Amino acid sequence: MRATADAARRFHYAPYSGKPGPIVLAAAELVSGTIGGGSNIEIVNLSLTKHAEEVAILSALTNDAQSPGRGRLSAVYVAGLQPCGSCRQFAAEFASDDAIWILEDISQQELRNTSLSKLSDDREPRVVPFADYLPSPFSSFDQAGA
Ligand SMILES: [Zn+2]
Repeated sequence: MRATADAARRFHYAPYSGKPGPIVLAAAELVSGTIGGGSNIEIVNLSLTKHAEEVAILSALTNDAQSPGRGRLSAVYVAGLQPCGSCRQFAAEFASDDAIWILEDISQQELRNTSLSKLSDDREPRVVPFADYLPSPFSSFDQAGA
C-alpha cells in the first residue's frame, strides 16, 4: 500500500492551504484486493477539499468490478496527517467489520523528501481498528431514529 500511496503523489494539488501546503498520501484496499491511491485535492473553498483518504477509497471503489457498498473496505493506509473525522465517517460507510487504519508516522518534511516505497521495512506503521477510531459512526439506524 505504500507504493500505491506514493504513486498518488502526482495527483497532490494543494495551492490554497499555504506554502507549502500539507501533503497527505493514502491507499485504500477493498476486501476483493482492489487497491486505489489518493492525495489531497484542494479547491478554492477549502471546506470542499477532497482528502487523500476519500480519494483513495473512491479510486478503489470505482476501479473494482463490484458496485460500492457496505462491508467492501478492508484497510486504509495514510501518511502525512491523521485521518480527520469526516474521513473516518466516509470510510466507515464502506468498512468491513474488521477494517483497519494503517497509519504511517512520518513528518511533512520527510514525506516530501522520501519515497514511501523506500522506507525501511523495520519501520512499521501503526495499525488501528476502525472501531477504535470512530466507535459510533452515523448509520442508517441513526437516520431511521431521527
Ligand atoms: Zn480527512
